[in-house]
Amino acid sequence: MIEANKVEIAEILPTKHIALIAHDSRKKDMIEWCGEHKEALTKHFLYGTGTTSKMITEALSLPIRGLKSGPLGGDQQIGSLIVEGEIDFMVFFWDPMSMHPHDPDVKALLRIATLYNIPIAMNRSTADFLLTSKFMDQSYPRKIINFDSYLKRDL
Ligand code: PGA
Repeated sequence: MIEANKVEIAEILPTKHIALIAHDSRKKDMIEWCGEHKEALTKHFLYGTGTTSKMITEALSLPIRGLKSGPLGGDQQIGSLIVEGEIDFMVFFWDPMSMHPHDPDVKALLRIATLYNIPIAMNRSTADFLLTSKFMDQSYPRKIINFDSYLKRDL
């Protein structure tokens, strides 16, 4: 259980560090969406799972730091960068119609992204709303839970 009133601020700066991930059936969507928002995306640092990042760079010449492919640990790498505070924004077009071998990793990534309260878009509509938000050009005071009482719990 979390105590909702205990929060601290972790700024999301005007230049975001954005993770881009798409399952295979959503990669075409992701490339199209990145093309529509190419000008906005060039203002930020981009990261992506292996195949997604490679395909976006090939199609649109956007510079992206490519990590491992999702099923080979790329989702976990992105989760770890969120925990480290390096990634503060995520667009993850996951496939709601298929089973995936790395389903536990997907769930873990969504959990960590939620826990650290970073903006997450999981479909194109939400991604459109996020990219056109006034906060894209500004700092945003992201509230994250202060876990002091959890860390000092009686055991
Ligand atoms: P991929 O990984 O970009 O390497 O295909 C995405 C995923 O399946 O999580």
